[in-house]
Amino acid sequence: RVKVKIIKTLAAVAALGVAAMTYSAHAADKGLVGVLMPTKTSQRWINDGDAVKSQLEALGYTVDLQYAQDDIPNQLSQLENEITKGPKALIIASIDGTTLSDALQKAADAGVVVVAYDRLIKKTANVDYYTTFDNFGVGVIQANSLLKGLGYPEKKGPFNIELFGGSPDDNNAFFFYNGAISVLQPLIDSKVLVVKSGQTGMDKVGTLRWLAATAQARMDNLLSANYSDGSRVDGVLSPYDGLSRGITASLRAVGYGTAAQPWPVVTGQDAETASVKLIISGEQYSTVFKDTRELAKATVGLVDKVLSGGKPDGLDTKTYNNDVKVVPSILLTPHEVDKSNYQALVVDSGYIKAEDLK
Ligand code: BGC
Repeated sequence: RVKVKIIKTLAAVAALGVAAMTYSAHAADKGLVGVLMPTKTSQRWINDGDAVKSQLEALGYTVDLQYAQDDIPNQLSQLENEITKGPKALIIASIDGTTLSDALQKAADAGVVVVAYDRLIKKTANVDYYTTFDNFGVGVIQANSLLKGLGYPEKKGPFNIELFGGSPDDNNAFFFYNGAISVLQPLIDSKVLVVKSGQTGMDKVGTLRWLAATAQARMDNLLSANYSDGSRVDGVLSPYDGLSRGITASLRAVGYGTAAQPWPVVTGQDAETASVKLIISGEQYSTVFKDTRELAKATVGLVDKVLSGGKPDGLDTKTYNNDVKVVPSILLTPHEVDKSNYQALVVDSGYIKAEDLK
């Protein structure tokens, strides 16, 4: 009998415990947030997804995080599916910023708060906020870093350069390119910089879907068509580390990276581990560090504020017109990273572990 009583008591205590746990889980549950990221092939989006998810969960949200393998229909169906789950908010880093309008109409009808993450969502009124970096500023940094690597203005040139752009369906790509060209064009005009291939403008230099293999193939062609006469390419404007690695692979294949034929100055973006390693070894000159933890923090803070009935303040309302409206934006600051400061900016800040760079 005593035994039965003890068991009964234990069962009651356990039931109470379960009830308490259920209650606290319920109390902490602030609802579902859908997070849609473009691809896992680039480390930055993995960092972004992880940071957004963990920060939202810490505040008590349930998070559904999805990656679309850079496939536009895939991302669209993920979005449509997500909307049927009744999220409070959607955080979307789009693949093609113009293809989500119909689904976003459904989200708006259901009262879902929509935040464009890093990449602007275009051609719809149904995007409430945009959180990103100063993307024009990224391009300015890349161009200035290219010039610094070339030794300009101490060295007078002329320097042979080639230009690469990002994916033409990503609004950011134009901001990066335009930012860079704002610095480079006067020097192209004055012949300090020579684009030997003559290929300029996003229509000529864009790299669909940010594919490294596409950049590598284009660099192969540029080298054989324009530099087989013994002339040298001194610098390459590259907007993203993945492309930079494709470009340096192409350069290596024709003999760059030796004492006789040193590496050209190659820029990049995202401070990906693989590229920071190449910056240390001298193969890539620089990258642009955009702290994805900060972007996640700004985004999660914004979403939490709006869902709690607050009004976010200090938003930029001039820069990002999506062809239907100017989307109120948070713009964070990007930083140039090269051999001289990677330790302080990306290692000491904890963004990349020192042992991962060995
Ligand atoms: C992002 C960059 C990234 C690129 C390729 C852009 O939209 O802003 O950080 O390098 O996409 O993933």
